Amino acid sequence: MLDKRKFYINGAWVDPIAGTDFDVINPSNEEAFAVISLGGKQDIENAISAAKKAFETWAWSSKDERLALMNKILEIYTNRSDEMGEIISQEMGAPVDMAKSSQSGTGSYHIAAFIEALKHYEFERELRPNTPNDRILHEPIGVCGLITPWNWPMNQIALKVLPAIATGCTMILKPSEQSPLSGMLFAEILHEAGVPKGVFNLVNGDGPGVGSTMSGHKDIDMISFTGSTRAGSLITKNAADTVKRVSLELGGKGANIIFADADPKAVKQGVARCFNNTGQSCNAPTRMLVERSRYDQAVVEAKEAAEATAVDIASNSGRHIGPVVNELQFNKIQNLIEVGIKEDGAKLIAGGLGRPEGLNRGYFVRPTIFADCNNDMRVMREEIFGPVLCMMPFDSEEEAIAIANDTDYGLTNYIQTTDGKKANRVARRMRTGMVDINGQSRSSGSPFGGYKQSGNGREGGEWGLEEFLEVKAVGGWFPEA
Ligand code: NAD
Repeated sequence: MLDKRKFYINGAWVDPIAGTDFDVINPSNEEAFAVISLGGKQDIENAISAAKKAFETWAWSSKDERLALMNKILEIYTNRSDEMGEIISQEMGAPVDMAKSSQSGTGSYHIAAFIEALKHYEFERELRPNTPNDRILHEPIGVCGLITPWNWPMNQIALKVLPAIATGCTMILKPSEQSPLSGMLFAEILHEAGVPKGVFNLVNGDGPGVGSTMSGHKDIDMISFTGSTRAGSLITKNAADTVKRVSLELGGKGANIIFADADPKAVKQGVARCFNNTGQSCNAPTRMLVERSRYDQAVVEAKEAAEATAVDIASNSGRHIGPVVNELQFNKIQNLIEVGIKEDGAKLIAGGLGRPEGLNRGYFVRPTIFADCNNDMRVMREEIFGPVLCMMPFDSEEEAIAIANDTDYGLTNYIQTTDGKKANRVARRMRTGMVDINGQSRSSGSPFGGYKQSGNGREGGEWGLEEFLEVKAVGGWFPEA
């Protein structure tokens, strides 16, 4: 059993003052393999004081100093990337090859992207041409509380820690208690890179404990949160009394609109995209809407794709999906599959209740597909967060747009068509922060975030930096001084 009870505060690993033990469970075998500590009030107070003190100097650090530090972080992260992948695989169940490439890879990807964004970012500007006495200054917001989920742990942590460092903020990270070890390895990397003491602090804990102490604390100037819409709403309420900025990246229920003229592989790719990371992605395309003339064929193809999806323990090499993160999620997914069958009356064409054959231990879910859904069904409205895809036919472009937008969420929608004009027209109509046409990913530095109940923040690139900045307008500026 790994003893990972310490916190990283003011540049050192310290024992908890008021911690409670919490087991980290390997979801492939349901066995505890590490113990962490859930912090108490004094632990978080110490981390906040350290961050507050460090802000006095780090806020005035130069862009060159921050760039040098970020480059060092990238170098060390790259050297330890496989180790990061292995730990992520163990703590949250992503298959090890995928954990090393995609899961851990997102970390270096975002570090590099923020280095580029910072290089080009101008913190001081003229208001507009010919306003020499007006100056707009972008300044670090202060001490930031960063709260992250377990599903893409390094993706989320890098998307918050790097822009905070880049803008001169100081911070306390509370990684998910379900996947704390990757965050702790990240803290080691930052330490090795020479992040000045107090700039970055890590305190483990759960939502009601450390999480809500942070969101309600007067000395925390901003909370950057990624996780469920439920927790995002609680954090916003708790943060209201101290009027801090709250940046939210929440859940999703993405639609994948497949027009009749789409690429022949569109359905198969849509299934794979939905099941990637065992369906545990906020931006997963979980509602597949197919133009009626192609629908019956699509159902056959989706069934084949689901049945061809291998499920295996996370430590085995190869292309397969792993378990879901924990018992709670397993039970929630089982419950929603049952709702789909019994309450919604959706047509189960692949998978279903229980574990896949041969896997009797671990939180494994059968790759599941419901066909002939309608948009009022609970399985079409709720975020299931497992390998479960729902399919529904549509008759016209207008109808597809209406169904896609008829959801409380607004994170990512997907469009499959070979007609460029139609693709662009539909993309404009999507009420989502992101649109993906024909599986083409967005370039690095583009903003990630949602409309409606998918949140209000934007992470990545210059937008990601601006989340952590205050704007100061100065009149009477001496342009030559
Ligand atoms: P969660 O909301 O249960 O937990 C996320 C984090 O918030 C954890 O660190 C948890 O300890 C903390 N937390 C929980 N309640 C809190 C509270 N009241 N106050 C403060 N902190 C609290 O979510 P999860 O189960 O870890 O992650 C899955 C969810 O995250 C899904 O809904 C998914 O869609 C969403 N997500 C969104 C994005 C995005 O960028 N939009 C990315 C990844 C995941």
